[in-house]
Amino acid sequence: MESAAAGLASDLHRADRNYFFHPFTALGDHERNGPLVITGGKGVWLDDDRGNRYIDSMAGLWCVNAGYGRPEIAAAIHEQALKLPYYHAFASMSNEASIRLAQQLVEMSPVPMSKVFFGNSGSDANDTQIKLVWYYNEARGLPAKKKIIARDRGYHGVTLATAGLTGLKGLHNGFGLPLPFIRHTTAPHRLWQAEPGQSDAGFVARLAGDLERLILAEGPETVGAMIVEPVMGAGGVIVPPPGYYDAIQKVLDKYDVLMIADEVICGFGRLGKTFGTEALGMKPDLVTIAKGVTSAYVPLSASLVSEKVWRAIVAGSDRLGVFGHGFTYSGHPVAAAAALANLALIEKEGLVEQAGKRGALMHQLLRETFADHPAVGEVRGMGLMGAVEFVARRDPAQRFDPALKVAGRIARAALGHGLITRALPEGDSIAFSPPFVISEAEVAEMVERARRAVDQVFAELKAEGQWKG
Ligand code: PLP
Repeated sequence: MESAAAGLASDLHRADRNYFFHPFTALGDHERNGPLVITGGKGVWLDDDRGNRYIDSMAGLWCVNAGYGRPEIAAAIHEQALKLPYYHAFASMSNEASIRLAQQLVEMSPVPMSKVFFGNSGSDANDTQIKLVWYYNEARGLPAKKKIIARDRGYHGVTLATAGLTGLKGLHNGFGLPLPFIRHTTAPHRLWQAEPGQSDAGFVARLAGDLERLILAEGPETVGAMIVEPVMGAGGVIVPPPGYYDAIQKVLDKYDVLMIADEVICGFGRLGKTFGTEALGMKPDLVTIAKGVTSAYVPLSASLVSEKVWRAIVAGSDRLGVFGHGFTYSGHPVAAAAALANLALIEKEGLVEQAGKRGALMHQLLRETFADHPAVGEVRGMGLMGAVEFVARRDPAQRFDPALKVAGRIARAALGHGLITRALPEGDSIAFSPPFVISEAEVAEMVERARRAVDQVFAELKAEGQWKG
């Protein structure tokens, strides 16, 4: 007979398949195989409804930075929900938690920022950024300056506009995207983009040259902004070569093109500094944040706006009337309270510094474990963000047949070894981005579990005659 717990689990699995339309999921496979139902978490550990435990090497989707089960954040959410669960921020209405958070975000910002526009997700915050760039240029009498440049492999969201900014074909196919105002330039991805033996300086010059050629080909009078993740996340954990942002910034300044830093993953400590902007010496005009600002306990995002952009927008609003943009949940007090509690926790426990230290250990262990593996093309990353990329041949690097889904198989095998990792969408990389609270022993355990999964899959590929070893 089925136990009560097993009965509940099978009920849930059945109901999931019947009713739940999952994001970023192979829908046919899901109909056949059903979900993995997560029931709880503590620190870096997650439990499922079948009694399995996992190390969450991805902090959810690069976001549960303070770790699971933090009573301080839960209490702040509870208290705010009792005191004032909601009030909107349209037409000058305000609430204390959002005011305090806006001030704190401006004060924390590594480059001078002036105002904070709140949203609910990284996607909508980047969508807001596009509209701010357009409004800014309309207000300056430059209505043609509307094109936005992103990079191949960049990830900026899934809305109509931001799915197009995202430089991953999987988000365009089937939707007829990107929208026509979007362009892409080369990703700073040494493994696939640099010439063999090319110096960092040579690679940077090539990337800056590609950007400049694109702007000139489009006409600088039509290009409004470039959006960049300090370190690319979903596109492969790609760390640009030294000097990259200085070179890019020079090109942008030359043609009066704004820079939007998408700090949705990097922000709030992931790289061992509070912002990626700081870690990589960037000078953005607009900064997007989400994920780590609340450690994802509740959704919150924001678009941070520099004084230069703000002044033009105010002038535009003086002319046009009410600034015609905002969400029902912009400045949600519960989300703001969660963010304030999360940021206080990160500060009190020194979690940014800890992310840097655990990151250094993680990279050391990933390199020791994987760098010499005959199917590993690159072990890379920065701070507590890493990836291992698998290749069919190392020199020159050659991809596995995408149909083999090597990284996907490794991520699936990892579940059997009690590890949640993620196969990134382009090429065959698996990613590591655990909560900052991970201990040294847990870092070692995470890498060891990944090694077991990798060994299992390559033994299978060898037995299938798909890999010679
Ligand atoms: N920007 C970056 C860098 C991201 O990694 C993501 C999500 O992973 C987004 C934007 C989109 O955020 P959301 O999924 O909250 O819309």
